[in-house]
Amino acid sequence: FVEINNLIKRYGSLTIFDGFDLTMSSTDRLVLIGPSGCGKSTLLRCMMGLEDIAGGTISLGGDPYITGAERGKMTLDKTVQKEVGMVFQHYTLFPHLSVLGNLCLAPMRSRGMGKSDAQDKAMELLKRFGLGDRAKFYPSQLSGGQKQRVAIARALMLDPKLMLFDEVTSALDPELVKEVEQTMMELAEAGMPMMIVTHDMHFARNIATQVVFQERGKVIEAAAPNDLFGNPKQDRTRDFLKNVL
Ligand code: ATP
Ligand code: MG
Repeated sequence: FVEINNLIKRYGSLTIFDGFDLTMSSTDRLVLIGPSGCGKSTLLRCMMGLEDIAGGTISLGGDPYITGAERGKMTLDKTVQKEVGMVFQHYTLFPHLSVLGNLCLAPMRSRGMGKSDAQDKAMELLKRFGLGDRAKFYPSQLSGGQKQRVAIARALMLDPKLMLFDEVTSALDPELVKEVEQTMMELAEAGMPMMIVTHDMHFARNIATQVVFQERGKVIEAAAPNDLFGNPKQDRTRDFLKNVL
């Protein structure tokens, strides 16, 4: 379903990935873990088409939608790119738009969806996430947890086939983490394929079907959560887990 082949990513003279491979099936929820700076965010940004890649391919549902080439000649299929939704650590809601406005903007602009259809769809999603009474609020009037749940709802407006989450609860007060994780769980149970970067190993164990431990741009170990957390095969995985569990 998702296939990353021989990915090469550099920032100037700094090489982050030098032939990185990863596959994920459509029934997977893949959690990426690894030390700070190992390239987790970079990988998700590459998959979103936000980064120029110097080599390799990224495929969704069969064919590559991103093909890297040296010197900024990467090709990107924008139709497939729109099938990938992403939520970031820091709220990226538009501050000058209401919750409803935030949700309706992309589908109206890039899908040509009519205003009333967009609003109906938005209200349905907001109600599903228990945010129906917040539709007219502005981002500054929401809690951090509510903002992240709105960001998830907004990503779902474009009917993504894959959702990417980059440390979406790391900036939240502990009591707000749970409501966001519950929203992600609900989405998981509804069958949404996802890739998740998180430092919350308890949540990782609960939501993942596959956990990937990466270090310095390489996959060190990939396994089902009970195996990876309960019985890691690699010394480096064990060392990492010792420090974070
Ligand atoms: P963390 O757990 O701290 O979020 P990460 O695994 O997400 O770390 P990345 O943000 O992907 O790590 O960064 C990987 C490497 O790429 C780091 O060494 C970082 O300094 C470098 N890097 C990231 N973005 C840029 C950029 N725009 N320009 C130059 N270097 C960058
Ligand atoms: Mg990161």
